[in-house]
Amino acid sequence: MPRDDLPRAGRATAPDSHATVERPADERPLGQAMRRGWRRRCPSCGAGPAFSGYLKVQPACPACGEDLHHQRADDGPAYLTILLVGHLMAPVLHVSFVAFEPDPLLLATILCLAFGGLSLWLLPRIKGAFVALQWAKRMHGFGDARPTEAGSGG
Ligand SMILES: [Zn+2]
Repeated sequence: MPRDDLPRAGRATAPDSHATVERPADERPLGQAMRRGWRRRCPSCGAGPAFSGYLKVQPACPACGEDLHHQRADDGPAYLTILLVGHLMAPVLHVSFVAFEPDPLLLATILCLAFGGLSLWLLPRIKGAFVALQWAKRMHGFGDARPTEAGSGG
C-alpha cells in the first residue's frame, strides 16, 4: 500500500542540489594544468612559455609571474618517455620484422630514427606535464602563498 504523503528517503530537495559546483578561487584543476604543461605552457595561465630552452624550465612565467622554479621533475620525464617509447617500439619491431623480413640493419636504422625522434618530441611535453602536475598538487613549494622573505635562510 503506497503512501504518497510520506517523504521519500534519500530524496533531499535542497535548492542547490543540482547547482554547479563552485570551485574555490585557489583551486588548481589538474587536467587543465597538465594540458597546458603538455603544450609547454605555464600551468597557471597557459599563455607564457614554461621553458626557456628545450628542457630548461623558466624560473617564473613571463606572462603571469607564477613561480616555476619549485619544479622537481628530475628524471621522471625521461623515465616515462623511455617507458612509453620502449613499449611502443617493441611490438613495432617484432611485427615489422616478422611481417616484412627486412634487412636487420635497415630496420634498426629506421626504428632508431623514428623512435629517437618520437622520444625527442615527447620528452619536453612530458616534462611540461610533470611540472604542471607538481604545480597543481602544490608539491615542492608550489603551494606557498607567498615566497619566504629574505633572512629565512637555513
Ligand atoms: Zn603564467
